[in-house]
Amino acid sequence: MKIAILPGDGIGPEITAQAVRVLNALGESFEMEQAEVGGAGYAAHGHPLPPATLALAKSADAVLFGAVGDYKYDTLERALRPEQAILGLRKELGLFANLRPAILYPELAGASTLKPEVVSGLDILIIRELTGDIYFGKPRGVRECPDGPFKGEREGFDTMRYAESEIRRIAHVAFQAAQKRGKRVTSVDKANVLETFQFWRDIVTDVHKEYGDVELEHMYVDNAAMQLVRAPKKFDVIVTGNMFGDILSDCAAMLTGSIGMLPSASLDANNKGLYEPSHGSAPDIAGKGIANPLATILSAAMMLRYSLDKAGQADRIEAAVKQVLAQGLRTPDIYEAGTTKVGTEEMGNAVVNALR
Ligand code: NAD
Repeated sequence: MKIAILPGDGIGPEITAQAVRVLNALGESFEMEQAEVGGAGYAAHGHPLPPATLALAKSADAVLFGAVGDYKYDTLERALRPEQAILGLRKELGLFANLRPAILYPELAGASTLKPEVVSGLDILIIRELTGDIYFGKPRGVRECPDGPFKGEREGFDTMRYAESEIRRIAHVAFQAAQKRGKRVTSVDKANVLETFQFWRDIVTDVHKEYGDVELEHMYVDNAAMQLVRAPKKFDVIVTGNMFGDILSDCAAMLTGSIGMLPSASLDANNKGLYEPSHGSAPDIAGKGIANPLATILSAAMMLRYSLDKAGQADRIEAAVKQVLAQGLRTPDIYEAGTTKVGTEEMGNAVVNALR
């Protein structure tokens, strides 16, 4: 199995190096090949997504991505900025399903803004459709308002739309993910107001007929936002469209209070995926050896589970992360009095040792 390693910029290379060490410690024979992306791609080859990097990503079974972006590239024209690399990879690889687990390890319950009893032990998975919805629907733009009380004024407009196959494929991802977890899916929509999401609800209900072992619940997005903050532990898998998912996944991420802990996956129709931490390149701490590598290490675990069909190895990595947290080891971003502060490499060492 071939894994493309794209470390990127800022803390990307530091955290990715630790995830690679963890993968190497599993005793599997993965083929890993590294390439420049983002600012590093621009510096080396004049483009944030150099052709060789894209070719490597396409030829691999999975991509492990660090992070891209650095303030020094902010003056470049938009098409050459580091962040374009991730958009380009999503498009070129057809990554339509974004999986973001929000897990709060009991040891880190103090890091959340919510009461520990509400969030301690939280383990939910948000699945966001990534390539459709009002973010991509056409027509869109600014025009002369054609009708209604504002006729003749300028107006801005976008188009919300979802094709049946787009809904079906994300629903399958959600039900299959639930089969590997708590066997419950909450489909979040706005079927009471939007035609697009009544259609969404009908199609998700139809796909559900193929998954008798999974429970399906429908919930309006306003209620889902409220429940995420009121009683987040009642969810298992949440599946929703691009815009609602954008908002709800950030809300869920903040329940855990620690951005350095959150992995993510973006999958195509064949479960090939790109795996990356939910955070950015953190240029403010790059090169200091203090970045938290656990989100990237946990992203590697997701890669094993979803793209490489090695759920047992994913379990091993997740158990090792739990063990180092239980030992009281903390990078500065999750440090609390009474625990032991460690750097990026020491945290990587601890996970590798826990695996052994
Ligand atoms: P950021 O996530 O990089 O950093 C936000 C804060 O969190 C910073 O204080 C940072 O030090 C801290 N932080 C982030 N990851 C951490 C970790 N692993 N350990 C410890 N602390 C961590 O977001 P930002 O500052 O808004 O953006 C910085 C750059 O990253 C920008 O160029 C942005 O465009 C880019 N970015 C890239 C991605 C991506 O590659 N997918 C995602 C978001 C932002």
